[in-house]
Amino acid sequence: MNEAYQAPFAGTVKSPVTENEQMITGNWRMIRPVVDAEKCTQCLNCWLSCPDACINPHDDGMKINYKYCKGCGLCIKQCLFGAITGVPELEFSGEEE
Ligand code: SF4
Ligand code: SF4
Repeated sequence: MNEAYQAPFAGTVKSPVTENEQMITGNWRMIRPVVDAEKCTQCLNCWLSCPDACINPHDDGMKINYKYCKGCGLCIKQCLFGAITGVPELEFSGEEE
């Protein structure tokens, strides 16, 4: 490999295997992604793109874990079917689902 492309090993960060109640980040969110099940094709593009692994397929469609979704909007941009809408968080009254 060309030395110009070699980078020193910097370390690893272990993926958490469970939800950590001490690290809830959903309260940072300003925009809430909302999935329209009618438009969703279950292509899983959003699942692949969520950096927080908080959008997941279920039998009845894609579900977002709002305790950890920060509202970064990546899933909204990655959905090629327009099935995810960003709704201002202030339109909700603090409920998580
Ligand atoms: S808005 Fe960001 S954090 Fe929330 S589900 Fe979409 S990609 Fe994940
Ligand atoms: S990217 Fe859009 S169409 Fe694909 S699974 Fe997610 S919400 Fe559904």
